[in-house]
Amino acid sequence: MFEVSCQQLVLAGQSLLAKGLVAGTWGNLSLRVAEDQVAITPSGREYGSLKSEDVVIVDLNGQVIFQASGRTASSEMPLHLAIYQARPDIMAIVHTHSVHASACAVAHKPIPPVIEDIVQLAGGEIPLAPYALPGTQELAAQAAATLGSKQAVLLANHGAVCCGTTLAEAMTAAELVEKAAQIYLYANLLGGAKALSDEDVNIMHEFYVSHYRKRRGDTGND
Ligand SMILES: [Zn+2]
Repeated sequence: MFEVSCQQLVLAGQSLLAKGLVAGTWGNLSLRVAEDQVAITPSGREYGSLKSEDVVIVDLNGQVIFQASGRTASSEMPLHLAIYQARPDIMAIVHTHSVHASACAVAHKPIPPVIEDIVQLAGGEIPLAPYALPGTQELAAQAAATLGSKQAVLLANHGAVCCGTTLAEAMTAAELVEKAAQIYLYANLLGGAKALSDEDVNIMHEFYVSHYRKRRGDTGND
C-alpha cells in the first residue's frame, strides 16, 4: 500500500542528485503518507542505487511501521518528525546540503527576501536555526521552532530543510532556496543584495497561497 509513495521518494531523490542538490548518501527526503505516518529515505544509501523497498515507513514517534528491505530510517528522522508534528499542513520535507544554501548556513546568515520566486513560495526570509549536532533531538527541536510557519529553514553549519504541501512543492522549495542563496551571494559581490519590502513580500506570498495553490487543487500528497 506504500509502494507509490516509496517510488515517488526514490524518483525525487534521484532528481535531487541529478540537480546537484545532494551528494553521496547525504541529504534525505520524506513524505507524509497518512496523518500520522511518514515514508522516509534510509540511512547510508546512495541515491543512484536507492530502491523503493529501501524506503522506511514510520509513525510520528519514530516507530517503524513497514520496512521491506530491513533498512534503517535516515539518521535525520527526528528532524523530519519534529516538523510533521508541529506542522499538520506539511506533507513533504527535503533536506539538502546544497552548496550555496550551506554557504549561508556556514556564515550564519539567513537568506533575505531578495528574489521573487522563493518569496512567492516561502514568504519572507529563510531563517537560520542555531547549530546542533546532526541527528539529535536538539537539532530537530531547534529546526522546527525556527521554521515556525515558514516553508524552509537553514541549519547552521549544515544545510537546508525545505517543506511543501506536496512533494513537488518541497522539491521546488529546495531548488529555489539554493538559487536564492546563490543570487544573494553574487549580489553581495556586486555591492550588496537589496531586500524586497515586507509589503511586496506579503502581496506575492498571499497571491501564491490563495491563487496558485488553490488553482493547483492540491490537498494532499503529490
Ligand atoms: Zn544533513
